[in-house]
Amino acid sequence: MAKLVLKPGADRRLKAGHPWIYRSEIGDLKGSWSAGGAVDVVDSRGRYLGRGFYNPRPSLACRVLTRIDEPVDAAFFRRRLEAALAYRHSLSLSLEGREQGLPDAYRLCWSEADGLPGLVVDRYGPVSVVQCLTLGMTHALGWIAEALGSLLPGGAIYRLDDATAARLEGFEPVRSWLGGAGPGEIVVAEGDCRFRVTPGGGQKTGLYLDQRENRTLVAGFAAGRRVLDAFSYAGGFACHALRAGASAALLLDSSADALALARLNLDLNGSGDRAELREGNAFDLLRDLDSRGERFGLVVLDPPPFTRRKDSLEAAARGYKEINLRALRLLEAGGILATFSCSHHVTPARFEEICREAAGDSGVAVRLVAPLGQSRDHPVLLTVPETRYLTGLLLQALPDRR
Ligand code: SAH
Repeated sequence: MAKLVLKPGADRRLKAGHPWIYRSEIGDLKGSWSAGGAVDVVDSRGRYLGRGFYNPRPSLACRVLTRIDEPVDAAFFRRRLEAALAYRHSLSLSLEGREQGLPDAYRLCWSEADGLPGLVVDRYGPVSVVQCLTLGMTHALGWIAEALGSLLPGGAIYRLDDATAARLEGFEPVRSWLGGAGPGEIVVAEGDCRFRVTPGGGQKTGLYLDQRENRTLVAGFAAGRRVLDAFSYAGGFACHALRAGASAALLLDSSADALALARLNLDLNGSGDRAELREGNAFDLLRDLDSRGERFGLVVLDPPPFTRRKDSLEAAARGYKEINLRALRLLEAGGILATFSCSHHVTPARFEEICREAAGDSGVAVRLVAPLGQSRDHPVLLTVPETRYLTGLLLQALPDRR
């Protein structure tokens, strides 16, 4: 096995529990290696640190998969995926789940947080949607498929690579069934709601599963209220809120495809007649609503990441502040705002600071009902802050709004 020798001192991150190795930290590469193949990682004095897939192309050249001396093979993937599944079982994610006590749609494997850096697996009914984020993981697909087949028999696998990761890692992104084709459309249950999912269609792997628990939580405040679901995508928050007794919902999204999907989901849940869908830029639409004096009892703000880079953090912060300021102004007395950021670089503390500034400028006094984060099937590995990306706040305008 080839040996990746770290430069002196470059083992600090690994020793602190973080599995990433950058190209610039590599002192030497000994033995014959192939891009995407496994290598032994040793420190500058030759001491074994672990084993991971190596790729010379991206600056993030290796992510350690194991810290003990064990083969990275079919049995390794089976053990890791089995543990990932056991963790989801342990969470009691859903009482009405149909698949061995699990909900119909959940994240089965979340990369580093499941000990499989570079692999994401989402489950929709009988379909596993697999995303390879490294070249090494594409080479391991046979083992991954084998493990999924034995842990969740009778299902189908859809391979849906992330185009950005594929470009960085140097492989052709694939979007197709792996092995036999599965169903073209699936209807999954999420709590009291049903959602349509087309493997390979729509955004993300089909649904924003990271918001699953928040959608239920937020719906608990919806009864009798008029709801604004801004950046609605397929209408997840609105469907749950209407189902929970919201009087009406207005959905905003810039994507016509997303709104078409939202329309189908609203109808599927028997709430279509209480929903209005508006296509456009939420920044403009929120301003228009405010200038017309419209008010809502529940507002959800779930925008896409405003930045993927640290150096544009300030511009992103201005964007978050603006939409939060507008949303706060749209709240009626006692109204609830569920507001989110899924930008990796916006920490929970920074996001709270942005919302505090927005609250100050809006003149609306809000109290923190609960901090929010990604669903528990997207766990955060404490030593890998990059596994946390979704943060949010559940806020309530004081009853007299002063
Ligand atoms: N809340 C959703 C997920 C939202 S994802 C759920 O629970 O499933 C973010 C959405 O914002 C996407 O659907 C995207 O089309 C939309 N979007 C991106 N930029 C936008 C903009 N400027 N105005 C309105 N919608 C936007």
